[in-house]
Order: sequence, then C-alpha cells, then structure tokens
Amino acid sequence: MEVISISSNLRNLAFLSWPDASKAALKEGSTIVWPFGACEQHGPHLPLITDTLFAESVLFEVLEQLPKDLPLWSLPSQSIGFSPEHLAFPGTLSLPGNLLMELVNEIGKQLADMGFQRLVFFNAHGGQIGLLQAIARELRIQCPSMSVLPCFLWSGVDELKDLIPNKEVEQGLHAALAETSLMLSFNPELVGDSRPFGGDSKKSTNQSMKVPSGWSLEGAAPCAWLTNELSESGVIGDSRGATPELGDKLRKVLVEHWVELFLNLMNSKWPPVDNSKN
Ligand SMILES: [Zn+2]
Repeated sequence: MEVISISSNLRNLAFLSWPDASKAALKEGSTIVWPFGACEQHGPHLPLITDTLFAESVLFEVLEQLPKDLPLWSLPSQSIGFSPEHLAFPGTLSLPGNLLMELVNEIGKQLADMGFQRLVFFNAHGGQIGLLQAIARELRIQCPSMSVLPCFLWSGVDELKDLIPNKEVEQGLHAALAETSLMLSFNPELVGDSRPFGGDSKKSTNQSMKVPSGWSLEGAAPCAWLTNELSESGVIGDSRGATPELGDKLRKVLVEHWVELFLNLMNSKWPPVDNSKN
C-alpha cells in the first residue's frame, strides 16, 4: 500500500538541518504551509485519517507543480484536530478547542520568531474552519511581521459545482460523494465496500431531528450539529454515486486551484507593511 506522505517531500521544514531551516525562514517572502486534518469517523467505508490524507495529498501535488525555487516550505501535519461533533463514534480523537488554539498559537509565534513572513493553514476538516480563522486573527495581532492565511481545501473552488450536484454541495457535508470519490482517486485501497447515505434532516420523520425552517446545518443560519443525532452510519450526504473518475476530476480541480492561489500568494507583496510604526 502506498500512501502519499508529505514527509517524503523535500520541502518539509522538519527534514532540514537547523542552519538550513534558519536560512529558509530568513529568505525574502518565506512562506510555510501547515496541513491540518483530523482523526475522526468518516462513515463505515473511509478511514479516520481521511481529512489529513487529503490535506497532505493535495498539498504534495501542489508543491510538486510549483517552481522549485520559491521560498515555500511545509510543516508536519496536525493530524488530530477539533472534532467534537463526531466523538460518539469510536476512533474519533478530538482536542478541546482552547487547547488546539493554544497549540497553534504557540507554534505560530515560534515560526514568526524564526523569521517566516507568511503562515498558511492548509485545512481539510470543515469542523475547524472557524477555530483556525479565530487563531489566525489573534496571531496576526501578536506577530505583525507574519501574515496568516487560514484556508479550507474545499472552499472557493468554483469548478466543484460543475462536478457535484447542487443537493450534495448543500447537504453532502461528511464522508459523502466528494470525499468518497476523492479517496477512490488518492487511496482506493483504503475505501470500504459500503456506500452509505443519510443525515438529511429535512426528510427525517423524527420531528426533533428536523432543522427549523430557514435554518440549515451549515450556511447562513447554521445549527451546531452532532453527527450521531443525524446519521447512524456517520455519513451526512450521499456516497452512493462515488466513482474514481469523479475523484480524479475533483483532484485535478483542487490541485489546479491551489497551485494558482499559492502562485498568486508567492508573487504578491502580502502582508501590507504597517506604516503607522514608521
Ligand atoms: Zn472529512
């Protein structure tokens, strides 16, 4: 079994000696990418490490495609994250939110002290988007010399809506069509045979499971949800149509999207210089 691992990529900071790491950090425009995943249930057919593997695998291919001379490095992944919504399912491991905030904040400050000018959170777990955005703003205040960019693997990728049906874009929140297909592309040997569907709270005959009209699980007026209250299998959405072909297409648009965004970032002067201190 070959699982792509970012640890084998030469751009991983942890594979440098300390003098080389120091040189890397002090280069003009030095940027470090920290992959974030989770160790959490992904239905009976996908591994707990799904989100971490996606962050690493997409980033690995993105880094492969970018010019080798860019001052861009990656960190070892944070593979246990903030997943309280899945804790009713064995195998899920979750850090308390405040502990993860402290951890990321501390490492962020150390990276800024080394001289890194940009820190990108490359996150593939939807349940910690808000938390990472909050940490990013706090770090930005504490470390004015370093910009922090908390991005989410699946966000802002316009081409996805041409590949995933609308209903699944809205309701396929977890271990459903997109994630199952993407895993069939990256690591088919890790995908089990079942193709569960569930968690459609609008269709539930149990009135207490129905999201109030105008509210939704995610989006404009969200309700914080716990997976076990919505789905027996742990899947929220419909994995039945998942194919490796769809996975290959998703993989291609995700990699192309992030290659473009990283190139734009590396060619920019971001962050703005704080003129008030001059
Ligand atoms: Zn996931």
